[in-house]
Amino acid sequence: MDRDKILLTPGPLTTTLRTKLAMLKDWGSWDADFNAVTASVRHSLLQIIHGAESHVVVPLQGSGTFSVEAAVATLVPHSGHVLVLDNGAYCKRAARLTRMMGRWVSSLRVDEAQPVDPQALEEFLQDDPSVTHVVLVHCETGAGVLNPLQAVADVCERFGVGLIVDAMSSFAALEIDARHTRFDALVAASGKCLEGVPGIGFVFIRKEVLAACEGRSQSLSMDLYDQYLYMEKTGQWRFTPPTHVVVALAEAIAQFVEEGGQAARLARYTGNCQALLAGMQALGFKPFLEPAVQAPIIVTFLAPDVPGYNFQDFYAAVRARGFLLYPGKLTQIETFRVGCIGAIGENEINQAVRAIALALQDLKA
Ligand SMILES: *Cc1c(COP(=O)(O)O)cnc(C)c1O
Repeated sequence: MDRDKILLTPGPLTTTLRTKLAMLKDWGSWDADFNAVTASVRHSLLQIIHGAESHVVVPLQGSGTFSVEAAVATLVPHSGHVLVLDNGAYCKRAARLTRMMGRWVSSLRVDEAQPVDPQALEEFLQDDPSVTHVVLVHCETGAGVLNPLQAVADVCERFGVGLIVDAMSSFAALEIDARHTRFDALVAASGKCLEGVPGIGFVFIRKEVLAACEGRSQSLSMDLYDQYLYMEKTGQWRFTPPTHVVVALAEAIAQFVEEGGQAARLARYTGNCQALLAGMQALGFKPFLEPAVQAPIIVTFLAPDVPGYNFQDFYAAVRARGFLLYPGKLTQIETFRVGCIGAIGENEINQAVRAIALALQDLKA
């Protein structure tokens, strides 16, 4: 088969031909044409969260984790105390990188099948006034749980603590409105629901907290304040930008707008997710999460009850039919994941379910 395999993964994901074709050109990083692309991408990103009044956006080279790390390095003072609301693997990663940068970290743990609890956050903040920043993962891609951003933001606002949101897998699909939801920083990336290719992350930083960020980062390349100042002054990236990724992102954003923006993208992903759940349940697969806490981004399924099942063989049998699954990321039970995001619709999801049905027959044979 010479058709590209369909990626049912939470990034990199399947992109359109138009996005791929945008990369067939070389750009000078000092050139006015490329600076104009960077400026237009930054402008469009702010529009998506209605944040032009309240926030700036700072793009950064690297995968999404680099930008989470940069956000913590840039926003949290060395004497700060970060509370991570932890219900999964990406929360644990955020706690780990914060600890490795020498910041004081606490975790408020919840079962990975449950959303984090704003009430428990409130009690924690009441008991411990030393917390300066809260980290929330909006959609915990580990299991696929949707966390209550608005309620957590409200508690943080009431207690006057900063909120850093990892919105990597939700941005551009789930509604995030900076006019109504108060956060100090929100992190996302090119290769997720915007359907660009991977290679840059970006951090929205609240203008009111920006000035205090000067000189905080212990890392040069992760310093978003420095990156911001340089970009404002010169229109250029501080260090070599992934030019092809940036122009592909501009093209992906143009298609996002043409599709109808965040609401249209959410509708398509929701349709994908429902088609996936219906198709898989008809095959006897059980989703790990209750429907009420399932984000329409990625679905965790329990491993099928087939003697001798292992993910590698299952993956290979589905791959042979043109679809790439994603391994599970839960600690206790055997699972696998299927992404609902990317430049795919219900047709591709239904074909994927068919491929999974055939793969299952292979395993049973
Ligand atoms: C994808 C993702 C990240 C970033 O992961 P990378 O491997 O660095 O791209 C961070 N947080 C969440 C919730 C994600 O889904």
